[in-house]
Order: sequence, then structure tokens, then C-alpha cells
Amino acid sequence: MRIKNIITNLLKHDEKVLFLQKLLSPNFDPEKDLEIRENCDFDHRFKALTVEFDKINLFGKTGLNISFLENFGYSKTHGILFCENNIESDENLVRRILIHELVHLYDVKVRKLDLTSVEGLVESEMRAYDFCEQCKSFEGGVFTDFDHAECVSSWVFGSVKSMKSGEETTIPSKIEIQSKFLAERDQIMKDLLTDNDL
Ligand SMILES: [Zn+2]
Repeated sequence: MRIKNIITNLLKHDEKVLFLQKLLSPNFDPEKDLEIRENCDFDHRFKALTVEFDKINLFGKTGLNISFLENFGYSKTHGILFCENNIESDENLVRRILIHELVHLYDVKVRKLDLTSVEGLVESEMRAYDFCEQCKSFEGGVFTDFDHAECVSSWVFGSVKSMKSGEETTIPSKIEIQSKFLAERDQIMKDLLTDNDL
């Protein structure tokens, strides 16, 4: 199945995707705020990004800037960009990515979290990886809270590191992220998780 078809299906039928669209409402219109590109030509092999679309960017062209890397202050609206050339056409994978990016979009648009700051980005990545079930399946054993926190933290650390590469900012270590997540998960995930998920 093409990625576009998978996404269309998820937007209509997936429980978590519908939940996030409701939280984002009326700030999300898939027709406008979600773009699938055949080819993304970034330094990093991003599968998908939450971006700020610009009417006119710094180079005088219509296009977009990767907001977390370069925020030039020209931004009008935010949206999600899928890079087809970096994603395998796998339904579970596309689902995880879509949920992940929708959490970021919700954090930016509704919760007004500043994802250009390290703290804001760390928080949003925790929420996105936790809610998209990045660490839910674990082969060969029971997933304890500690294993789960360790897994989420590794992904968060990887994302923050790649987003902040080239900037002279200090980012927290994997262990620091893990301690924060273990101590504050209930608070951090308050508006996303129901009792069944905890
Ligand atoms: Zn992310």
C-alpha cells in the first residue's frame, strides 16, 4: 500500500490518531497541514518532521524551513511532512510516525510548547515516543517500567541529538532523560494517557 493510502486510512479509523485530531481541532486539516514528499533532501534521513511552513523563507523561495534546526521567524503555519524516500511502506511504522508527529503538532499548536528549546523538545519527544508506542513491543520478556523508560529515553536522546546537532547547546544525557521520565511520566503524559495505558 502506498504511504498516502495508509495515512488516509489511519486518519479515518485509528483510535489514537482520531483522539489526537480531536485534541488538535480546529487546528489541524490533513489537506493543508500534512504533506507527503516523494523525496526529502535533508542531511539527516528524517522519516517525518513537524515543520513550520513558510510563505517566503530566508532564501526568498516558497518552501519550508525545518523549524527546529533553523527558525527564521517567518513562519506562518505548522504541519507534518512525510519523507517517502526514507520510509518503508509498513503500516505499523507509518502509524507510529503519524502519531509521533501529531503529538508534536499538538504540543506546538495547542500547548504552545517551545520545541526550539532543549527542555521543550525533550518533553515533546518523551510524549511523542511514549504515546506512539515506540517501546511497547519487547521481544522475549516482560517489559518493566524501567525497561520502558530506558527504551523511550534512548529514542528521545537520539532525536534531540540529531535535532540539535550543529548548535552549541548542552543536551541532557540518556541517564538524565531516563530519570526525568521515570519520575515525571504521569505528569508529562497526563493529557494523553488514560488509566488503561499506565
Ligand atoms: Zn520527534
